[in-house]
Amino acid sequence: MLKRISRMTAAVAGLMLALGMIAPPVTALTATGYDIDSASSLQVVVNKHRPLNPATYVPARLVRVQGEQLRAEAADAYKQLAKAAKAAGVNIIPVSGYRSYSQQASLYDSYVRQYGQATADTLAARPRFSEHQTGLAMDIGNASGVCALQACFANTPAGKWAAENAASYGFIIRYPAGAEDVTGYTYEPWHLRYVGKELAGQVSTTLEDYFDLEPAPDYL
Ligand SMILES: [Zn+2]
Repeated sequence: MLKRISRMTAAVAGLMLALGMIAPPVTALTATGYDIDSASSLQVVVNKHRPLNPATYVPARLVRVQGEQLRAEAADAYKQLAKAAKAAGVNIIPVSGYRSYSQQASLYDSYVRQYGQATADTLAARPRFSEHQTGLAMDIGNASGVCALQACFANTPAGKWAAENAASYGFIIRYPAGAEDVTGYTYEPWHLRYVGKELAGQVSTTLEDYFDLEPAPDYL
């Protein structure tokens, strides 16, 4: 009986699929042609509803950038960005790039021990849910250290330069002001995410909005 029902259900689903009434179960690419699901995609979308898969994903090619690490593609772009900023008289330094699953886990666990889980969740992503694990995110700072990892970074030379020019190098400000209900993070003007020049030039707010994804304010 069960078998017959499931066969019937499958037949009906197949018919609906053929008639275009429902979408196929697995969509490899978005309507805009990007792969936002694979951990190794330059356009992967990671948020509190979208953990990295596999959990302990490690980028294939990590490159050193002044004591930090990024995926090769992002590292090249970052170096060009920093060089251009310097030419414009702005000294941008890398503060935190790639973090492995276990590094993120220790960071998160240390916050949980100190402040409890609720507060820890506002301070660091849980392991598997951090963009830093993709090797495509870099927290930047001013060489002077002023407003490091604080909202006032936006009004510093590095913050202003990045907001105006990051997209030309393939980076977006991943957690813009006023989008906490969508991204799950307060304004982080220092957190740059490499997505490639093409996509960076198209995203005006968040990746969630651009790809028409559900808002991810909290973990499920
Ligand atoms: Zn960050």
